[in-house]
Amino acid sequence: MSGPAETMYDVIIVGGGPAGCAVALGLERANPSASFLLIDDTDPKTFKIGESLPPEAQRILRYLSPNSIFPKLGEDTRNGVHISCTGNASVWESGELTETFAMMNPFGMGWHLDRVHFEETLRGAVEDVSLKVQPMTTEEGKGKKSGSGFVKARFVGVEKLEKGGKESWCVQVEELEMKTVKQYHSKWLIDATGRKASVAHKLGAKITKNDNLLAFYAVFSSPLPDKDRDRRTLLEASPTGWWYTSQLGNNLRVVVYHTDDDDPTAKQARKREGFLDLMQDQTEYVSKIIEGMDYRILSGTGGGGGYPKVTAACSSILEPSGEEAENGDGCSWFAVGDAAIAFDPLSSQGMITALQIGCSVGTIIAKKLRDEAEGKGGAKSMEQDEDYIPGLYRKVKDDYDKKKLYFYSQCRFDTEFWARRRRV
Ligand SMILES: Cc1cc2nc3c(=O)[nH]c(=O)nc-3n(C[C@H](O)[C@H](O)[C@H](O)COP(=O)(O)OP(=O)(O)OC[C@H]3O[C@@H](n4cnc5c(N)ncnc54)[C@H](O)[C@@H]3O)c2cc1C
Repeated sequence: MSGPAETMYDVIIVGGGPAGCAVALGLERANPSASFLLIDDTDPKTFKIGESLPPEAQRILRYLSPNSIFPKLGEDTRNGVHISCTGNASVWESGELTETFAMMNPFGMGWHLDRVHFEETLRGAVEDVSLKVQPMTTEEGKGKKSGSGFVKARFVGVEKLEKGGKESWCVQVEELEMKTVKQYHSKWLIDATGRKASVAHKLGAKITKNDNLLAFYAVFSSPLPDKDRDRRTLLEASPTGWWYTSQLGNNLRVVVYHTDDDDPTAKQARKREGFLDLMQDQTEYVSKIIEGMDYRILSGTGGGGGYPKVTAACSSILEPSGEEAENGDGCSWFAVGDAAIAFDPLSSQGMITALQIGCSVGTIIAKKLRDEAEGKGGAKSMEQDEDYIPGLYRKVKDDYDKKKLYFYSQCRFDTEFWARRRRV
């Protein structure tokens, strides 16, 4: 093991998706002298599912990085990397198509993102703010605070250390390029690793799943450049689940089928022919777009394997979502984003919630660190306090549960897939 063993950060954030980047940027906005280390293992060659960003997201993006993320999103949309989303169309309550138009939304149009590119933009904004503070050298840094930073590495382990009555986290990572193992220290530790919640698992937390929803997805390419003018998100319910399709940049389209892992169609949807047959049998509007524009399923991307691919899409919650130290001598951890609460993709709220929760947690930690530096604080937050992080999560979950029940109970089908979701 090598590396600056005594480098001490205020906050180590594991995971550089929307939630982890929002913690770093929220922390920096509220307390620029707080230091953080962001650790992320993304493979930028692998397609990432989950492209719809609602227009309301512009508020949080403008706050997190007024001069970089939002202008870059606009520039990339003009250049065709991302696509503007003109509204939603669904075949849900009846067999008829119903539409909501983005022009009726005060925030205007949302986006169909190239997720990999968007997250590179988020991490770029984090790198920009971390460069503002120069890291200290190993000798200077011994036992002192360092500047902020971003490393491309995989989290492998964590332990709590105690020295002179003060606790700290010791986080072990493996660098992606060099494969060397390094360790970093901090007072706060954030798990933003997504649904795997890898850090929280090591700390003994458990994920409870509310259902067993799977998402089978495939990317299609059209040989008719710029012919597809349909920039809506289209949802179509079927007796065994639901489908959606969105246009992406570069003449691509994604099609996703959601069903339970024990549904017989789940086996069929794993295979290319099975997926295509199901799409044809179960959808009218999705199939029409795919066939009408001569879309062909892609054989795979740099990340390996062909389409369709499958991923977990259930609602889940982590217990506990974190632990705060009793006083300023202790160290604390929290999960954010999907690691803390993951949503059914029907909500299309995953990214915006991850950004908002991440920003709130970064802001709360920033304030606690400032209070502590000024000798004003250090005590653990209580349930009634506005900076009590599990209280934030409870509100988000209650709101989500109500919306989920509403949307699932609106559907016209009464088969097992739908009945399961109407039982509270
Ligand atoms: C099928 C499907 C469709 C979806 N569609 C939408 C949609 O249209 N709109 C929407 O808003 N949301 C959608 N979502 C949800 C959305 O993608 C998530 O809510 C969102 O990505 C959560 O962000 P996050 O930062 O918490 O986690 P993630 O985006 O999963 O990011 C986690 C990060 O941590 C890194 N990481 C993981 N493990 C390690 C490790 N050991 N070491 C270092 N780094 C690590 C990963 O590389 C990644 O960069 C969808 C989800 C699914 C399953």
